[in-house]
Amino acid sequence: MKELSREAREFILSSIRTIPDFPKPGIQFKDITTLLNNPKAFQTLMDHLEARYREYDLDYVAGIDARGFIFGAALADRLGIGFVPVRKKGKLPSTTVSEKYSLEYGFDEVEIHIDAFGENGRCESEPARVLLIDDLIATGGTAAAASRLIGKVGAQCVECCFILELGALKGRQGIDAPIYSVITI
Ligand code: AMP
Repeated sequence: MKELSREAREFILSSIRTIPDFPKPGIQFKDITTLLNNPKAFQTLMDHLEARYREYDLDYVAGIDARGFIFGAALADRLGIGFVPVRKKGKLPSTTVSEKYSLEYGFDEVEIHIDAFGENGRCESEPARVLLIDDLIATGGTAAAASRLIGKVGAQCVECCFILELGALKGRQGIDAPIYSVITI
């Protein structure tokens, strides 16, 4: 498995800016737009993800609404496989399955198309091998719900990948799949 060098990791991290108190007081928002508009940083990241996941024999990449779409679609294209959006409730036009997850106050819900990974989530009679990706894991609620969705339609969540992990929040503990974070802070 190809490891990312310390220099490359630090370079990617330095391309992500932190906006204090967005969207509300106390949140240190990790803004990946400054990674995306830096072609060297984006390419360094995508080269690494491509090298890592070439070895996984994946059938699909699933990206979480909305920043997971950017990394997920770019990676799926590099790997020559399909991309599946995991969307917030009410955005997908065909038949969906959904999963709720708790927020600080109330709950939210994510959905995928029931046939997103083929009929019954199968590729040539085996569960489709799916990589789930998002820009960041904080409490882990969103990714846990999204990975449950993949299983619900009969596919297999082979790994959950995040560009950034906020380690102190221990979000990975609630996820029932292997986890890879490019950078943990
Ligand atoms: P969580 O369900 O708590 O793991 O939250 C993860 C989702 O919220 C991801 O889709 C992130 O894009 C977003 N998110 C949560 N915290 C932050 C943060 N500090 N900076 C940027 N995005 C965040």
